[in-house]
Amino acid sequence: MSNWPLVAGNMAVVALFVLLWSRSNYWLKTVPRLYRAPLFAAIIGLGAIASMSMAVESRPGVFADLRIALLTVVALFGGWPAALITALIAGSYRLMMGGLGTGAGVIAVGLASASGLLVNLLVGTSTFRLWHIVAAALIAAMATSVGLLALPITDLPMSERIWFAAINLVATVVAGLVYLRAWHLSAERELLAAALTHAPDYAFVKDLHGKFAAANEAAARLFGVAGPDQLIGRDNFDVEPFERAQAQLDGEATIMASGEPQLELEEQLTDADGTQRWYATTKVPLHDIGGRIIGLAGVSRDITETRLLQQEVLQSRDTLSYALAEMTGGLAMYDSEGRLVFCNEQYRDGFPLTGALRQPGAHYRDILQAVIDTGEQPRAPTEGKAAAAWIADRYANLQRESEDEIYLSNDRWMQVRTRPTSNGTTMVVAIDVTRFKQAEQELHTTTDHLKHLVRTDALTGLLNRRAFDDAIDAEIRRTSRAGTPLSLLIVDVDRFKDYNDHYGHLAGDEALRQVSQLLKNSLKRPADVVARFGGEEFTAILPDTDEDGAYLVAESFRRALAEAHLSHANSDKGYITVSVGVATYMADTAARSALDLIETADGALYSAKAAGRDRVFGTRVTDARRLRTTA
Ligand code: GH3
Ligand code: MG
Ligand code: MG
Repeated sequence: MSNWPLVAGNMAVVALFVLLWSRSNYWLKTVPRLYRAPLFAAIIGLGAIASMSMAVESRPGVFADLRIALLTVVALFGGWPAALITALIAGSYRLMMGGLGTGAGVIAVGLASASGLLVNLLVGTSTFRLWHIVAAALIAAMATSVGLLALPITDLPMSERIWFAAINLVATVVAGLVYLRAWHLSAERELLAAALTHAPDYAFVKDLHGKFAAANEAAARLFGVAGPDQLIGRDNFDVEPFERAQAQLDGEATIMASGEPQLELEEQLTDADGTQRWYATTKVPLHDIGGRIIGLAGVSRDITETRLLQQEVLQSRDTLSYALAEMTGGLAMYDSEGRLVFCNEQYRDGFPLTGALRQPGAHYRDILQAVIDTGEQPRAPTEGKAAAAWIADRYANLQRESEDEIYLSNDRWMQVRTRPTSNGTTMVVAIDVTRFKQAEQELHTTTDHLKHLVRTDALTGLLNRRAFDDAIDAEIRRTSRAGTPLSLLIVDVDRFKDYNDHYGHLAGDEALRQVSQLLKNSLKRPADVVARFGGEEFTAILPDTDEDGAYLVAESFRRALAEAHLSHANSDKGYITVSVGVATYMADTAARSALDLIETADGALYSAKAAGRDRVFGTRVTDARRLRTTA
């Protein structure tokens, strides 16, 4: 066919208008959405007109052109408003052109738009793909081929019909691809532009002369101008104080001259509102395809918060080390593996032989082994198995709350407390408690002494009445349970009032001491208890001792006193004598009472006195109070 140039021209028109249309998406960004669709449609309508005006006139009034491709593609991508407007424009123009093929031409316009629209509606909101374009092109080609039947000519050769359908099919697919590609590019570009525009960092691009070629909104705000447009074409002198602008430009000139980027330069700036803020700025030189430097790109981040945080961290670290250094106790932290993370000097100083070993990284088990090896804790076991168990036990304290008081080789006491924390580490506090320990021991001694005093008779050193009461109650209970006998002696010095009268009270005291000592010596069993009952009266508790035994004890005391021969001028014998009352619970007596026993012994004593003194009277408590006397 001789009309190839026209076909090629038509194809170019289609491509051109599709390209114009897809670019207009970008150019018409500022036009309200409502007007955009008609504007796009109008562009493609014009394209259809251009295509028709370059048509190949196959018969007079029958035009072959590629308007179908444009109409299909615009309906496919633009939807129904675009389809409607372009169809109207193209249809009207075809009507205007007139001729034999007018009817079929207008029908073809309608069918092409309908084909694109059909696929548009089927695709819905999803993204367009190649096969959508091919499908729309195929439908349009078939539909318009059918539409050709409306031509009032019957001798149009089949080859021409097929050629017409095929060339439109190809043109539709090409136009669709051109649009799709352009659309993808502009979408990518918009995405990048949006990302840069709305990024929180301050981003800008400068040319070789230091003038802003691009900037985002954040950068515009930072330089105190209304928008990025206000920066383009200007330099730092327009938006910053002279000295700072000069410094910036000098720095940037160095970057562009050397090709070396400036990475994360931190600097403090004063904001438009006067607050001091920190920024980290990176500037990299930009190269063209040939490798020549054509400008630079810069990104600044506001790092004020990070800086403040850093300062706070430093400050609290200082405070912490100060506190650690100044505190009275030792503090150490061990990690979950049992290794020393850190400790203060006091912790090291607290341990006389293993202090130097307690360094970060040291394992607690090794430290404990050294404690044993050096003998730092004299009370810790040193021998194999016991030592291993001791180490295991101390080491396990890192896993639990514990409190230990340890005695050290330097004669000091240390309280060691462990507190595991939620992150697996353990805090160890070591405090010298030697003073408390000493005070505690003194307190123990004092308490023991006071206890002793409370139970001791000051004059004779024997147990006093209070201690006697406790002792007799305890023995009553014990011998009842055991079913053993129990005897009690009550001793009263004879004519002692006269002794005092004759020798004086102090001599009387001394005589009482001697008598008490003799009584004490007369008791042979360790379980026997001797006490001062009051005044010149003494008592002896003789557990597991029957009537005869008690009697013998009392008699031996009376004899010892006679042998001691403590002079008593006013007495019958010329020396100090005593009367003794004895009371006994025999083994088979179950019901016993201290009061009963004392009263019985007292009764016997009274009888002994009445019978002439210097004698022992005994009574078995249970039976008919059989009396037994000596003289
Ligand atoms: P009797 O043979 O009847 O027991 O005569 P007594 O003088 O010993 O009896 P009495 O109960 O009348 O006197 C007891 C005296 O013991 C009275 C008191 O002067 C003396 N006495 C009591 N306690 C002490 C003491 O702690 N020291 C001295 N020096 N004398 C005491
Ligand atoms: Mg008396
Ligand atoms: Mg007396």
